Formats: sequence, C-alpha cells, structure tokens
Amino acid sequence: MSTRTAVITGASAGIGAASARALAGAGFHVVLGARRLDRLRPLAEELSGTALPLDVTDADSVTSFADRVPECHVLVNNAGGARGLERVEAADEDNWHWMWQTNVLGTLRVTRALLPRLLASGDGHVITVTSIAGHEVYDGGAGYTSAKHAQSALHRTLRSEHLGDPLRLTEVVPGMVETEFSLNRFGGDAERAAAVYRDTHPLTPEDVAEVIAFAATRPPHVNLDQVVVKPRAQYDGSRVHRER
Ligand code: NAP
Repeated sequence: MSTRTAVITGASAGIGAASARALAGAGFHVVLGARRLDRLRPLAEELSGTALPLDVTDADSVTSFADRVPECHVLVNNAGGARGLERVEAADEDNWHWMWQTNVLGTLRVTRALLPRLLASGDGHVITVTSIAGHEVYDGGAGYTSAKHAQSALHRTLRSEHLGDPLRLTEVVPGMVETEFSLNRFGGDAERAAAVYRDTHPLTPEDVAEVIAFAATRPPHVNLDQVVVKPRAQYDGSRVHRER
C-alpha cells in the first residue's frame, strides 16, 4: 500500500507536535503546519515529513498551504487555544476574536480547503481536537467554551453531512494537558500557568497523540465518533484533585 499522508495543524508544539510524531510512527507521511517554522522544520526533518507555513486565521495562508498538499488522507485540526479567563462582564473582545478565529474559523478554513483531497483519497479522516470546554462551561471561560462548543458543532455537522461518503470524523475531547496552552492563555505569565498543573497529574501531549494515532489506524469502516480523555485526577473543567 502506498504511504498515506496526515496533515497536522498547530504541529509546532504540544498536542500537535506529539501527534505528528505518533502518526509518523504509525507509518504516515506527515505534513506539519503552524506559524513558527523555526520549530516545525527540525521536527519535520526528524520525522522525514514536510513543514509548511500556516496561519489558520488568514484565508490566503490556508489557501497556499492547501495548494502545497497534493494528497491528504488524515487531517488533524489541532491549531487553537485559549486567551484570558475573564468573566463575561469583563470580556476582552480581542481575546474572543482570537479564540473564535483560531479554533472555529481556522478549523472551518482548513477543513474546507482539504475536503476535496480527503474525499478523493477514498478513505479520508478528519480528526478535530476540541476540548471538554466544548461540552461544558465554567466561570471565566465563556470565550473559550463558546469557541470550543462551536468547533465541536462544526465537526459533528460534517459527520452528518458526509454520511455515505468515504470520510471518517473523530472528535478528540481532552481534559487538562500540560503544554504551552496555559502560558499562552495567561499572556506568558509562567507562574500563573504553572499553578494550573501544580500538585496534580495532568495528561501529557503524548497521551492525547496516542488516541489520535489509534483512531487514525482503525480499518476504514470503523469510526470513533468521539473520544473523551482526561487525567484520572480531573472530574471536569472546574474540579481537579490536588495532592495538597
Ligand atoms: P499549545 O502547546 O499552545 O500549541 C498550540 C498550537 O497551535 C501551536 O503549535 C501553535 O503554533 C498553533 N497555533 C496557534 N495559533 C495558530 C494559527 N493562527 N495558525 C496555525 N497554528 C496556530 O497548546 P496545546 O495544548 O497543544 O493545544 C492544541 C489544541 O488542543 C488546541 O486546539 C487546544 O484548544 C486543545 N486543547 C488543549 C488542552 C490543554 O489542556 N492543553 C485541553 C483540551 C484541548 P504556532 O504558534 O507556531 O502557530
């Protein structure tokens, strides 16, 4: 069988980088997209993959990215994240704009651009990394939870719209994962970011990447619709067990 191609957005860090490793390990040719090429290039080289610049908030960038991807069997919509933790009464519209552009419209743009190639592959698979924030709400989280709810709705709509087509759709729904997520959420405040993971045992990016690679390597007739993966120490977005 010829080598299948997996495209991973936001592959320069965290879950995306770990997924690129896991999918390359499972035999895929990996195409890595993100804005920080200085990070993408060495990883792509190590995995014998391809690094391409991608800003999912910029329609032209998505078009040039997709033009350079001749084949696509698996698309991992992973680029995203959170900005801020303000209550609604203090909502920062720039933060909301960033979260909706990246998580929601970014997923829409990349998926729409690669859909023809996914369908033409005869066995396409869209894996979208949403979050437990896409299925619940918490104080201060409305910008992020609303964006993740919308991203999840977009993904699940595709599952219905493409029923009967050679396209699988898997929503991966992680709880707390220790990445640069919190550092970015809190504008580079390392102390505040570290506190999120203190005295508990969060998931690693590799824990989530293994789930993604598992979903991508099932036989073509098997669709894992939704996989929720949380640390044992986490009940939901608001309740985490801490050792002290
Ligand atoms: P991360 O370490 O901050 O990585 C985020 C990735 O997204 C980076 O590779 C970044 O690359 C990319 N990205 C951000 N803006 C982008 C843009 N405009 N265009 C292209 N790429 C962009 O965070 P992570 O935890 O791995 O997050 C990955 C996904 O998992 C996100 O969708 C996040 O919402 C979701 N998630 C995370 C957690 C968690 O607890 N960490 C839990 C549930 C879900 P560049 O900056 O180089 O562009």
